[in-house]
Amino acid sequence: MNTDLINVAEIFGEDVFNDTVMQERLPKKVYKELKKIIEEGGELDLSTADVIAHEMKEWAIEKGATHYTHWFQPLTGVTAEKHDSFISAPMPNGKVLMSFSGKELIKGEPDASSFPSGGLRATFEARGYTAWDCTSPAFVRHDAAGATLCIPTAFCSYTGEALDQKTPLLRSMEAINVQGIRLLRIFGNTTSKKVTPSVGAEQEYFLVDAEKFLQRKDLIYTGRTLFGAMPPKGQELDDHYFGTIRQRVAGFMKDINEELWKLGVSAKTQHNEVAPAQHELAPIYAQCNIAVDHNQIVMQTMKKVACQHGMKCLLHEKPFAGVNGSGKHNNWSITTNDGINLLDPGRTPHENTQFLLVLTCILKAVNEHADLLRESAADPGNDHRLGANEAPPAIISVFLGEQLEDVLEQLVSTGEATHSLKGSKLKTGVKSLPDFMKDATDRNRTSPFAFTGNKFEFRMVGSRDSIAGPNVVLNTIVAEAFGDACDRIEKSDDAEKEIHDIIKEYATENQRVVFNGNGYAAEWVKEAERRGLPNIKSMVEAIPSLTTEKAVKLFEKFKVFTREELESRAEIKYESYAKAINIEALAMVDIATKQIIPAVMKYTKTLADTVIAVKEAGADAKVQADILKETTKLLADTKKALVALEKVAKTAAGKEEGKVQATYYHESVVPAMEKLRAPIDALEMLVDKEVWPMPSYGDLMFEV
Ligand code: ADP
Ligand code: MG
Repeated sequence: MNTDLINVAEIFGEDVFNDTVMQERLPKKVYKELKKIIEEGGELDLSTADVIAHEMKEWAIEKGATHYTHWFQPLTGVTAEKHDSFISAPMPNGKVLMSFSGKELIKGEPDASSFPSGGLRATFEARGYTAWDCTSPAFVRHDAAGATLCIPTAFCSYTGEALDQKTPLLRSMEAINVQGIRLLRIFGNTTSKKVTPSVGAEQEYFLVDAEKFLQRKDLIYTGRTLFGAMPPKGQELDDHYFGTIRQRVAGFMKDINEELWKLGVSAKTQHNEVAPAQHELAPIYAQCNIAVDHNQIVMQTMKKVACQHGMKCLLHEKPFAGVNGSGKHNNWSITTNDGINLLDPGRTPHENTQFLLVLTCILKAVNEHADLLRESAADPGNDHRLGANEAPPAIISVFLGEQLEDVLEQLVSTGEATHSLKGSKLKTGVKSLPDFMKDATDRNRTSPFAFTGNKFEFRMVGSRDSIAGPNVVLNTIVAEAFGDACDRIEKSDDAEKEIHDIIKEYATENQRVVFNGNGYAAEWVKEAERRGLPNIKSMVEAIPSLTTEKAVKLFEKFKVFTREELESRAEIKYESYAKAINIEALAMVDIATKQIIPAVMKYTKTLADTVIAVKEAGADAKVQADILKETTKLLADTKKALVALEKVAKTAAGKEEGKVQATYYHESVVPAMEKLRAPIDALEMLVDKEVWPMPSYGDLMFEV
């Protein structure tokens, strides 16, 4: 085990081409120019880019880098990279130089034809460009391939359509910047120059033993267990959550922190999660697009470091049935360049008009675009979580807490908020413990969109997904609400009265989305229905919200997506859903046919031999015969379900790609998969552990 002590302050950011490095290494004029572009936007001229590229390369080579890559986020859900070494063509003396030009830094041209484009680009138009996002710092990554200079980039088609996650994210950040500044100016703020969303993503994950993982084809092919009976112990004792971290996992955490710190990711919090073998890591929040990149780095590093510790990191939303799945809490706030958080209510929120306007705008945004927010968290894995009796329900609602709900209540009933509830003293009743002031509001863990002091926490996001999508939606819908309010206020003769009216109006009209109760309760589903809130239960049902007229109007207005881009994204999502379920169905068929049925047949033979032997010995073989009967019956059920699954999977594969096919997978293949799983899980409980062809849930979750 690695027990070296770490000097955090010293290693933090050592592999990042950050502001300190730039200031040290770049000529003053170049540094200033780049800094201006990072802060205000604009285009780098090629000669400046050349100087930056040269310094970046020298720095990277000192860190051992031999290659560079444009690191981008196509619509596959993971990052992509193509590595080029720094070497130039050999010189007459047979040696090479290490070179890296400004052009190579700012623009790349990966073959785009193999990335999902959803019809945006015919395969013969293979050109795609990656463009340097200088607002997210480059870094050197060390792995088995050596050291590589990674340059965060956006990825677009030849005609400028976004083929990735980053491009719309940057566009949405611009939208909220413009509208946020407008709003601040209305309230007399003339000094803040920029408004940026801040994001902190808490990442949940599972760790399992690598050797056991490799004995599970389902985990290998799909990232989740397709079969598996519950062990005698699950998460019911609540003894894992925040429990003492096992030594092997602690070793992993130590190393991952170190790696992340070197990469400038401010890994801060780590703890055990609810399910056995489940954990969480949260960094300190950062500017939205950096937080998105950092979350990708976190996920990649987790996988790598887990391998180094003989484990596998599972990022699937639902690796195990019957225990909690994994998500990602997307903490989101809006901050100015001079440190103002627009979501900070202060001590007396009822007097804070700017905050009340911001808050009611967010309520309006979330209420009107609940479907988009829900869609942004849709992925095949998340279908197992959202609304399935854990994690947040599939219904979007907003938790405000007692204090703000009370202020809102006052606004709605009288048009005026006159007081704010205060936190009281927390009395422990133990003399040696200090009494302290508790918050005015308790937490609520069941709300999908919860106000937590000075930020909103969107809790629906899947553990495996990029957080780019949810933030694109949040930034844009709030920009729209800000924009609409600003339009009215700027036009009005009496701005103060208009602001007051808007706050009351938005609070009243959007009150239905506010819910402070238990989001997991069955009554909430009924109540939400009564309120007319959408309850979108699956990914396939969520995708159409991307292309409604309402969505197209919103995204086109703020130049985040064109209609074509939205349509292409919907196509890609249908396709990726169909592919994911197809792989799962085929994996199930494969495992059932080649591993489980043969194992059970062998076992029935053993049982049959036993029955005969016991009878021959003159004893009663009733128990043995009963077990044999039960096993044979379940085996027959398995075979029947297997044939049925094969049939629907075949039909599905022949369907027209897109919505039709995805819907068929959702409605016909998924239920057939569940039908195959049931008898097999029952068999697992019956069959001798020695002959069961793969490690059990207990082996995976409790023996890490
Ligand atoms: P929890 O929600 O589990 O209580 P914390 O309150 O520690 O956890 O915060 C969770 C995440 O929220 C962290 O990544 C933290 O940096 C981030 N966060 C805290 N304040 C803000 C903010 N103003 N804006 C965005 N993210 C924030
Ligand atoms: Mg949280």
